Amino acid sequence: MSAQVASPASPASPISTRRYRFATEVVTVDNKDDPYNAASVPIYQSATFKQKGANAEGEYDYSRSGNPTRTHLENHLAKIMGAKRALAVTSGMSALDVITRLVKSGEEIIAGDDLYGGTNRLLAFLQKSQGVKTHHIDTTNSDAILPYLDPHKTRLVLLETPTNPLIKIADIPTIAAHVHEKCPNALVVVDNTMMSPYLQRPLELGADISYHSGTKYLSGHHDLMAGVIGAKEDAVADQIYYIINATGCGLGPFDSWLLLRGVKTLAVRMDKQQATAQRVAQFLEDRGLKVHYPGSTKHPQYELHKRISSGPGAVLSFETGDIGISERIVEGTKLWGISVSFGCVNSLISMPCKMSHASIPAHVRAERALPEDLIRLCVGIEDADDLLEDLETALVNSGCLLIGDKLEKLSLEQQS
Ligand SMILES: *Cc1c(COP(=O)(O)O)cnc(C)c1O
Repeated sequence: MSAQVASPASPASPISTRRYRFATEVVTVDNKDDPYNAASVPIYQSATFKQKGANAEGEYDYSRSGNPTRTHLENHLAKIMGAKRALAVTSGMSALDVITRLVKSGEEIIAGDDLYGGTNRLLAFLQKSQGVKTHHIDTTNSDAILPYLDPHKTRLVLLETPTNPLIKIADIPTIAAHVHEKCPNALVVVDNTMMSPYLQRPLELGADISYHSGTKYLSGHHDLMAGVIGAKEDAVADQIYYIINATGCGLGPFDSWLLLRGVKTLAVRMDKQQATAQRVAQFLEDRGLKVHYPGSTKHPQYELHKRISSGPGAVLSFETGDIGISERIVEGTKLWGISVSFGCVNSLISMPCKMSHASIPAHVRAERALPEDLIRLCVGIEDADDLLEDLETALVNSGCLLIGDKLEKLSLEQQS
């Protein structure tokens, strides 16, 4: 690896391909090359690495270009993402920044219309600063993309599924097939943060690049920020590595180590979080509330989500019909922390229109049918009954039950 010549750094050890089931592979980190057989990959907290001679180039020379702790993390992530190569950067937004640098001025991006707030902001910035246009389309309709695909212009097609917070599903295989047929030079990019590689692996569904905010489920404890980019082809991975080395956004050794530790429990965390989320969704539906969750058989794209993933995940949202009531519910819970973000072992509650999505102008939120009273729940690993009881108390105290007597059943139990 060299900071001087920006050639792609080669992974320290060959990327091992998956042999066992996911839950086994995710907890099995390859550390064969450790001279002391350390059980945990060491943190190489070093900016530089000495070389054997003036012309001898060692495997590592400078941590911006490559660091052994980061390499271990990247090899492990490539394995669980089903990627040819994975690269770790300082945040999810940094991952998207690196990916969008593949777009030249004059080329275009096509993206969904219910995107993560920060993604909208970065795409708007690209348009303003470099004239790179993004067409926003409804990705629930796989054919909506067809009029925008231009073999001379389209460079990236950016999908999120499920979207957040409206939980809209995109048919990755069908959309990827449309893109690859009409635009051989375009890359299909999926932000897989909501699902994690445990539940959905976009590269196996036709995407060229899959990326994650490692801040969420991959790390699982809200104790670090990271981004991960997985590529299906070496050529794309090499370009991405070049940009990371050129711009200096590779993940530092300590955060790499934290992420490598956190990701080991991904499967067991997600199983627990998802099982509770399923109960919470049912609980809210039983009380007549409109719930957005891909694990609900009432979700209009329930079958599609089931086809492209192995579970609904642990993020859901619901409507109360009244902004004031929603505010009182959010403020009335004790176990659910009022916080943006998700993917933590602790449960979180938020009002997207006032918090994570507040940067989207109100008229755009209205156009995109984002209800102002929407509450988002991100289910953690606490005892499910405690979470349900806490939510029930907040619903009752908020006055939610007064709206059309939707919650009559609930109030009887509480008040007796
Ligand atoms: C959080 C998030 C991001 C941004 O990740 P950061 O690590 O916060 O920079 C991108 N996409 C989605 C879907 C997210 O939830």
